[in-house]
Amino acid sequence: MTKYVYDFAEGSRELKDLLGGKGGNLAEMANLGLPVPPGFTVTTDACRAFLRSGTEPYGLRDEIAVHLERLERRAGRRLGDAADPLLVSVRSGAKFSMPGMMETVLNVGLTDDSVAGLSAQAGGDERFAWDCYRRLIEMFGRTVCDIPGEAFEPGPLDADPRECVRRYQEIFREHTGRDFPQDPHEQLSEAIRAVFRSWNAERAVLYRRQEHIPGDLGTAVNVVAMVFGNLGADSGTGVAFTRDPATGERGVYGDYLTNAQGEDVVAGIRNTMPLQELERRDKAGYDELMSIMAKLEEHYKDLCDIEFTIERGKLWMLQTRVGKRTAAAAFVIAAQLVDEGVIDLDEALSRVTGAQLAQLMFPAFDLSGGPRRIAAGIAASPGAAVGAVAFDARRAAALAAAGTPVILVRRETNPDDLPGMIAAQGILTSRGGKTSHAAVVARGMGKTCVCGAEEIDVDITGAQLRAGGITVSEGDVVSIDGTSGAVYLGAVPVQPSPVVRYFEGSVTPDAGGPLIRAVDRILTHADKRRRLAVRTNADTAADAARARRFGAQGIGLCRTEHMFLGERRALVERLILARTGEQRDAALAELLPLQRADFTELFREMAGLPVTVRLIDPPLHEFLPPLEDLAVRVARAEERGADPGHDRELLDAVHRMHEENPMLGLRGVRLGLVIPGLFAMQVRAIAEAAAAVPGARAEIMVPLVGAVQELEAVRQEAQRLLDELGVEARIGTMIEVPRAALTAGEIARAADFFSFGTNDLTQMGWGFSRDDVEGAFFGRYLELGIFGVSPFESIDRDGVGRLIRIAVAEGRAARPDLHIGVCGEHGGDPASIRFFHEAGLDYVSCSPFRVPVARLEAGRSAVTAAGSDTR
Ligand code: ADP
Ligand code: MG
Ligand code: MG
Repeated sequence: MTKYVYDFAEGSRELKDLLGGKGGNLAEMANLGLPVPPGFTVTTDACRAFLRSGTEPYGLRDEIAVHLERLERRAGRRLGDAADPLLVSVRSGAKFSMPGMMETVLNVGLTDDSVAGLSAQAGGDERFAWDCYRRLIEMFGRTVCDIPGEAFEPGPLDADPRECVRRYQEIFREHTGRDFPQDPHEQLSEAIRAVFRSWNAERAVLYRRQEHIPGDLGTAVNVVAMVFGNLGADSGTGVAFTRDPATGERGVYGDYLTNAQGEDVVAGIRNTMPLQELERRDKAGYDELMSIMAKLEEHYKDLCDIEFTIERGKLWMLQTRVGKRTAAAAFVIAAQLVDEGVIDLDEALSRVTGAQLAQLMFPAFDLSGGPRRIAAGIAASPGAAVGAVAFDARRAAALAAAGTPVILVRRETNPDDLPGMIAAQGILTSRGGKTSHAAVVARGMGKTCVCGAEEIDVDITGAQLRAGGITVSEGDVVSIDGTSGAVYLGAVPVQPSPVVRYFEGSVTPDAGGPLIRAVDRILTHADKRRRLAVRTNADTAADAARARRFGAQGIGLCRTEHMFLGERRALVERLILARTGEQRDAALAELLPLQRADFTELFREMAGLPVTVRLIDPPLHEFLPPLEDLAVRVARAEERGADPGHDRELLDAVHRMHEENPMLGLRGVRLGLVIPGLFAMQVRAIAEAAAAVPGARAEIMVPLVGAVQELEAVRQEAQRLLDELGVEARIGTMIEVPRAALTAGEIARAADFFSFGTNDLTQMGWGFSRDDVEGAFFGRYLELGIFGVSPFESIDRDGVGRLIRIAVAEGRAARPDLHIGVCGEHGGDPASIRFFHEAGLDYVSCSPFRVPVARLEAGRSAVTAAGSDTR
């Protein structure tokens, strides 16, 4: 038969799945010999069984009765004994801490009959006993019977607690239609059921979704003999940390409240005093607490937080756990523990996360001045940006060029906004989600972005926005917080990230203080341990240079199409409009030196390191003006009786080239096979640039290949050119079409390397159009648990991941020296990096700002077991 109840003596923190964090750690403390009130834990198994069937599983009642009896024996009191009652707390506690999301009921066991008994225990303190009863009725009413909290509004402060109990019992009756239960055992089983149910409380469900905690774990229930901090001046209750959870600084840190029950500290009803004050008031209690905290740190080898209560001078431990901390504290503490000889560097590395490092790299607002918040949107790309608003890309670029920091505001962005996005400090849109164009591009550039701020009414033509009753005109200053999604009026002061300044070389580890020293030390160790190399996605020398300072070991993706924007667009238009081979070749010949110059710069910046250049990928019509603009221009010209000339030609081309599904249309390798000379021009530019830069290591990458024949055709022509120019370069392919993954063994015959394009592979693997699905139904899919995170954010291990594993296995079988990496957005995502490590890739490539994150996560993947928690 399943065992559903564990005494503290039977439990341990290893049983966290079954006993929850709180229960496991209470058992751990009890078994360390620390003063924990007697108690037992009902398992998450029992909770799950209850939630499935709506009743307690068979045998649970009897087991609880047996353990309650043991508890009574140890406490020396019995539940329901009117003369000398035992009271217990009934406390939730899941595997992962969900602070304040579920329920706890204190003082269970108190009835009309036993109040006098409790008062006698307390040496005749009637006020205390009635106050406990009042608290029980309120907590029980709220938790077990769903009475709204406001119903129990506090009476006048000096109210007689006995009178208050009478009133609360009436309120209880009004809301439930029954009397407050006078059978303590009934109180106990009802409270246990209510804690089970609180697992599915709305706020708990929301919290789990936010934190990616599985919804089917259930909570354990801890039944603990009550101890009382509300027995006068020599009693009290508090919370404490063994180190400062904000900075990681050594030294205890906490709050204490005299004459109070635990909930009062957390609720913040009364002003607490710093823990040091306890030393003055109760030296013995304080000293014992210090020695227990030292013991806990030694045992857990980490920062612990605790809850404790002092009952008439006697200290009781009510909770502990490895404490939550800020990102900065996580690094500082891990490094300190290494210095103290408590943990080794591998362990330190496993205790910090890429997400924490990413957080430390963004500048932050100083909100102490109380800035005016005018709207909130989706926190799409973190950071704190301040600037004058501009409503179109051209204006943004002009303002920025004149030295004014700019926030580009659009309803939504498209590729034409790119120059404005590059020029801006931050991007704000009123439409679109986390994978909208604005969000993806901003994250790639490490630029602050708030998107989908629907309260904002953006009037592009009027160059104004309205939000929160305020009109902001072009040139007015706003501040946007890409970490919280908040939009503020005016300039909020910004604190630059010291960690980035360290990466940039303007702060040395020695001068940088404990945080910088910790980051430096742990990241250096990650580099030593990781098997995955880390490259960057970069199209410009500036990006490449920054990424190099951030530790990139090469470029894994240079998107050449970004080199066809701006004034070069005219040349691409000529290429598209060419009617004869001569016209086409002439356009290509003009593009050649421009491309050569681009590559020369990149190769110079990355001399000695590999640079993977992807041949042009997007459909060419993306370079033409939007259909609507052209149609309007042509119509206006015709109205005036003028000749629309070039616009007419462009409009015809746009019509001719229209595709229903451009993502599945004439793009990638297909362009190269259809437009003579296009890829050849690019290969020539790469080769000539490589020849001109000593140490250049060019790799030529063909996008969107689905069949080996496509790659062979491109490869033949490219190899001929390379030979002709006497340049050596590896030629490889992206694996981003499912068919390529499934025929990787054949494709490997024509490829020196593979690079997974996980965006397209996800898009085509699921049949999701990334630009459309997010707003349409991802919310519902997340709700239904079809996936826990968007597969565009974190790689879908089971489906897309399987395609990757197949391609790796079959590609390497055909060609053991095949070099394999990934260059999609997932290359910078912590959970995905772990997968790429496990799948045996050689490198990941990500945006410059993600490079340190990827270095850290690649190191963590190497030192921690497969599948271990990344939380
Ligand atoms: P949470 O998980 O929200 O912190 P807890 O179960 O820890 O909820 O309990 C809420 C408060 O009640 C805490 O301050 C805790 O210390 C206090 N408390 C819980 N059990 C007891 C007990 N047996 N005796 C005294 N105080 C208790
Ligand atoms: Mg607690
Ligand atoms: Mg692609």
